[in-house]
Amino acid sequence: MRISESNLDVGMFGPVRDGGRTMHRGVDILAMRGGDVTSVDDGFVVDIQSGGAGGNLIKIGHRDVDGDLVSVSVYMHLAEKPGFAIGAPIAAGQVIGTVGRSGNITDEATHLHFELRTSIYGGQIDPIPELRVNHE
Ligand SMILES: [Zn+2]
Repeated sequence: MRISESNLDVGMFGPVRDGGRTMHRGVDILAMRGGDVTSVDDGFVVDIQSGGAGGNLIKIGHRDVDGDLVSVSVYMHLAEKPGFAIGAPIAAGQVIGTVGRSGNITDEATHLHFELRTSIYGGQIDPIPELRVNHE
């Protein structure tokens, strides 16, 4: 995923919503509607959902060299519900969907809500230090 600092203006990680009262558990990456969304690393499909606040979303699990699940990347507001089977292998850089406006996006700029978690069920961390952000 190509991310520049200017893409992140609308939504950094942390208590940045409602004057600091609400945690934003991912980052919002400004993107053109219809643009490709790619997996940040090798992994496999752990979950696909639609109809909730995140809209059409996909979660990719990532294993370490020992085969243990160490992180889960989550991609929300996709245009379509991804058609993968649960467990399907995903390669780093593989297209897993396209940028859309599903879920609770209202009048905000179109963006990909991206999360990095330490487990399937939660543990969201700030993904920016983990990603190679282009300084443009
Ligand atoms: Zn967001």
